[in-house]
Order: sequence, then structure tokens, then C-alpha cells
Amino acid sequence: MTPNAMGVVGNRRSTEDFEFGEVLGEGSYSTVTHVTTVHPPYRQYALKVLDKEHIKRERKTKYVLIERDTLKALDGHPGVVKLWWTFQDEWSLYYVLEYAENGELLHWIKKYGSFDLRSARYYVAQILSAVGFMHEKGVIHRDLKPENILLDQTMRVKITDFGTAKLLKQDEIKAGQPTDDPQGRPRARSFVGTPEYVSPEILSEGRESSFSSDFWALGCILYQVLGGRPPFQARTEYLMFQKIVNLEYEFPLGFPADAKDLIEKLLVVDPKARLGGDPANGNGIEAVMAHPFFTSHIPPRAPSPDEQRRR
Ligand code: ATP
Repeated sequence: MTPNAMGVVGNRRSTEDFEFGEVLGEGSYSTVTHVTTVHPPYRQYALKVLDKEHIKRERKTKYVLIERDTLKALDGHPGVVKLWWTFQDEWSLYYVLEYAENGELLHWIKKYGSFDLRSARYYVAQILSAVGFMHEKGVIHRDLKPENILLDQTMRVKITDFGTAKLLKQDEIKAGQPTDDPQGRPRARSFVGTPEYVSPEILSEGRESSFSSDFWALGCILYQVLGGRPPFQARTEYLMFQKIVNLEYEFPLGFPADAKDLIEKLLVVDPKARLGGDPANGNGIEAVMAHPFFTSHIPPRAPSPDEQRRR
């Protein structure tokens, strides 16, 4: 049989289909390796290998299945990392993922210190588009942060790490959050996510996250790409949580006005009053997309003396 355009033969995948390259990273119960198909056209993938024994011992089965199911539900959007195939052997589960060659957005923020307005809009608009698609499919990511935003060969955004995501049932999508109570009251929950990006409703009321929680995280990410660091930082997790619930953060001098305005509308303590946080009442993702940060004209940057000399 001849290999197809994906560089594989037949329908069943195994480790024999791939040549293993460098380890791209390690998660708490997985290792991600760069692999290339053994057949032409020698396509590249990121192979996530999950140790079955470890998953069982640490009771992580739920997270592993959530990651697989949400990635399958989100197939088809260019801003979400594609899950090509899954397979298993006696010891491991294998997820064959689209390869994001340029790694984590965090790496690029650290490398450049911060981004200019044009680049910030380029990346945040792509993240927003992917978040819109996720929400439409009933997925709350719950752990959006620059480590989970990968970049492909052409620096296009690929969102990853759906292990703590929530996949809502059809009737829950309209409410924008899980409900297991006839009155629609959200159930109490322990916090999932990463402290710097967690929304205040999760901390102060122990509430279930909603679509709105992802918009809070988006506000933190926009702040970070322009400011170089997340808005809420402190010596201890407790102090950081205090800052989040009390909305204690400041903008560096000279922060761009449209971006500042958008962040102030996203970092709102009441999840329903947050921009994008109340889709049932006309405040959904379209309201975020219509913000001047995404629509206003950004004047071209003046060339640096170095660039001028090269012209
Ligand atoms: P945890 O499971 O503890 O939340 P994690 O999400 O970082 O951690 P993995 O999903 O196993 O764990 O990923 C490990 C690392 O591998 C990531 O930090 C990322 O840098 C890299 N990586 C993951 N997926 C890809 C991919 N599709 N392309 C390129 N690199 C990837």
C-alpha cells in the first residue's frame, strides 16, 4: 500500500509509523516528542505519550479523556491544535497532534520583553477567534495562558492543553456554564487553572467556571503581551488571589489606550458584566470582537534608524 498525504499507510496507527526526534516538553503525566512519519512526504507531528500506569495511580483518567474528547469536538478550527489520531499499546496512550514548530507564546513574550500594538492585536485576535469557536462548540478552556498558546511554522496561533477544559451539554451551552440544578445554580467547584489567570468568581464564590472565565484570562493575556508580565503577581498564591478578587493591578506608563480600555472591560469582577460574559443578553463574543482594539486603525510604526539605513 502507498502512504497517503499524511505520510501514513492504512487506518491503524502505531509507533512504527513514526521516527522519534527531540523531546518537546514534559507535562505532569505525559511527554511530547517531535516525530516524523517514516513514509513520504515525511510529515511532522507532536506525539504526546501518556503513561497508563501513572495516569491510573494519579487518578488522571478523567483529564486524559477530557483532553481527547474536547480536541475531537474542536476539530476544524485553525486556532486549535489538531488531534490527528489516537492509539495505545500495553503501556501508553498516544495522541498524534499537529506540530506547532514555534512553541509557546510565553517563549516569545520572554524573548522580546513585550509586543508592539500591531503584533498584540495579531495574536490576541487569533486567540479570540479560537475561543469563539470553542464556546460555540460548548467548550470552556479554563486554563488559557501564554504557555498553552502554541505557534506553528508561520507563527499562527494553536491553542492546546484541554486537560482541564469543560465540555458543556447542549442545554448548558445557552446558559454558558454547567448546571446540575433545576434552578440553574452553578455547583461549587475547586479551582482549576493557573493562579495568575484564574477569574475572581472561581476564587471568591468557589463557583463553576463559565465562558466568561475564558474572557478574564484573555484580558490577562492581552495585558501580558503588551506589558511583558501578567497583571496580577505577588509573593504568594494567597496574596495573588487577594489582588485578583480586589482587582488590584496597574498599567505601566504609556500603555496603549484601546488595549487599556479592552483590558478594563475584560478584567471585571462580575462575570456577567464582563465584556463577552452575558451572551443571552447581547453581550457575547461579538461584543469583544467589536471593541476598537480590534477595529481601529493602527498607524504604521516609524522605521528605526537601522531600518532607515537599510532602505
Ligand atoms: P500539564 O499536563 O502538566 O498541564 P503541559 O500541558 O505543558 O503540562 P503537555 O501537553 O504534555 O503538558 O506538553 C508538554 C510540552 O510540550 C508543552 O509545554 C509544549 O511546550 C510542548 N508541546 C505540547 N504540544 C505540542 C505541539 N502540538 N507542538 C509543539 N510542542 C508541543
